[in-house]
Amino acid sequence: MGKKILLLGGTEEARELAEMLDEAGANFVVSLAGRTAASYPGPMRVGGFGGVDGLVDAIGTDGFEVLVDATHPFAAHMSVNAKRAAKLAKIPYYRLERRPWRRAKSDRWVDVDSLETAAERLDSGSTVFLAVGAGGLAPFLPRRDLKLIVRSIEAPNLGNRRDIVVIQQRGPFDIEDERALWDRYGFDALVTKNSGGESAGAKLVVARERRTLVYMVRRPGRQPWPSAHDAEKMMRKLRRHLR
Ligand code: NAP
Repeated sequence: MGKKILLLGGTEEARELAEMLDEAGANFVVSLAGRTAASYPGPMRVGGFGGVDGLVDAIGTDGFEVLVDATHPFAAHMSVNAKRAAKLAKIPYYRLERRPWRRAKSDRWVDVDSLETAAERLDSGSTVFLAVGAGGLAPFLPRRDLKLIVRSIEAPNLGNRRDIVVIQQRGPFDIEDERALWDRYGFDALVTKNSGGESAGAKLVVARERRTLVYMVRRPGRQPWPSAHDAEKMMRKLRRHLR
């Protein structure tokens, strides 16, 4: 039996990796924060560990020998904690992080450091597509001068804004889906975090086609350096722990 792996999930790459580990007969447990409902192959645990100390304890108690962090590029707390905990527990740490989207020549991107900055900079009177997740809406709620259309997996908290259009859907979305959305609402601007990945990338293609302004939130700077950018490459790195 190979080493016991703790896989921190919450992304498509984590799911792909879990499928590969399952197929390889690996000894692993997937950990999720529990923000959205999800199913993965293999055993799962759900909920925070209680910071670095809690994670170190869980590693010791459950006998994990390898920590694989495949959390989202914007899940900054978990990744920093995970790297620290692995060091304290003296087990190897690997980070799987998809590549960011890159600006094409004809893109009209405005790079911003946060959703708050995006919310400040949007032009008054704009119709705005917010692809920021249910938890990212708060900075935009005071902007009553904007028409806001939100797409998220979970129902967002709209405060007292009854005028916001909510599209509750889970990706992937293809280019035709996105064109239909642009046709319906005629967006002046899109706000998104630079998550990267194929399944959320179609909106950027349509924004480019329609010459829509994109407020692109940069990734947090203090994330641990990735060991691999896709599940297949991560699997190759993990091979030696699976024997
Ligand atoms: P975060 O700020 O880094 O995490 C906040 C806390 O949630 C962590 O300190 C940890 O609690 C707990 N947590 C996060 N990921 C966990 C995991 N895989 N297993 C167990 N506990 C976890 O992250 P977030 O931005 O809230 O994201 C939460 C989850 O959603 C992440 O797993 C991430 O992969 C996924 N996700 C995030 C985004 C995004 O835009 N941020 C988008 C898509 C998916 P303790 O300190 O108590 O251990």
